[in-house]
Amino acid sequence: MNTVSTVSAVRPEPLTIEIGTPVSVAPGILLLRLPLPFALDHINVYLLEDGAGWTLVDTGLDWADSRAAWARALAHPLVGGRPIRRMIVTHHHPDHIGLAGWHALRWSVPLEISAGEWKVSSRYGDPARNPHFERIGLWIENGMAPDDARARAEGMPSNLRMIHPLPQDVRYLAPNDVLGIGGRRWRCVVGRGHAPEHIALFCVEDDILLSGDHVLPRISPNISVWPDGPQNPLAQYLESLGDFAPLGRDPLVLPSHHGPFRGLATRVAEIRELHARRLALLEDFCGTPRTAHECLPQLFNRPLNGQQMAFAMGEAIAHLHCLAGAGRLERTRRDGIARFHRPDGSAT
Ligand SMILES: [Zn+2]
Repeated sequence: MNTVSTVSAVRPEPLTIEIGTPVSVAPGILLLRLPLPFALDHINVYLLEDGAGWTLVDTGLDWADSRAAWARALAHPLVGGRPIRRMIVTHHHPDHIGLAGWHALRWSVPLEISAGEWKVSSRYGDPARNPHFERIGLWIENGMAPDDARARAEGMPSNLRMIHPLPQDVRYLAPNDVLGIGGRRWRCVVGRGHAPEHIALFCVEDDILLSGDHVLPRISPNISVWPDGPQNPLAQYLESLGDFAPLGRDPLVLPSHHGPFRGLATRVAEIRELHARRLALLEDFCGTPRTAHECLPQLFNRPLNGQQMAFAMGEAIAHLHCLAGAGRLERTRRDGIARFHRPDGSAT
């Protein structure tokens, strides 16, 4: 889930990618594009050749079009009728973990995921839960009118309905674990901020990075404050980008959205610059005390529908918390409303 489109100087690989048709992106690695019913209309999952079968990295959302795309893909000659023998999920977001339970049943494989991501996803179990309702308090505290906040939550369907019941058999991946898959060794590289303990996989020998959502070529991953998550995720994200920029020589990056590319260090620099610009913009805007809700037009110069508004509020709060964490803004709370302003006498 991502909200900000960016212009980029990265070099896309010349590939035609169609929903449900696996495409070879490196020896022994297939990219499979699956549909999503959102503004961001697709996710890439990857099949890594693993002996007589495949290791799957991410699974897609559980809805009819996604299952239909899987049916086409599994019958494709490139997959060759070989089974999925292992399943890894980069992080807990529904488009990544949605079909993990479905694959687990079908192939009798455990789910491999970091402990931090499993902790969040194991809360998906309650089908009656709509996380948007848990966000109303956060939105009101950050300046949204109470009636508006409630109406927005009520108008937003929960994406949890598109997650197949999760697998029971789970193995934890830890930072720097090295996984042998086929002839390759992949190191687990942890990214924080977009999700609590997102796992990317890096193969040093062949210079390939499965970047998940942590580094994407055309959009910046959503970095949001949620009621039950870290309160300064943007600082965490910017810090963990520092572990990604130096990876490899100029690795082939295989992301979860849009196409494979080269130019990882360039892309990391672009994403840093984007956040630096947005932080400076808000710092400037907060010459007088502002709520996150008042900051939205500074960050998003377009109308926001329900789902986008949830992510936009999260992003605005994340940027304000990052500025407060760095001492560039002060946070005050009066009558239950949080406002942010530059410390007295400072100029930007
Ligand atoms: Zn994600």
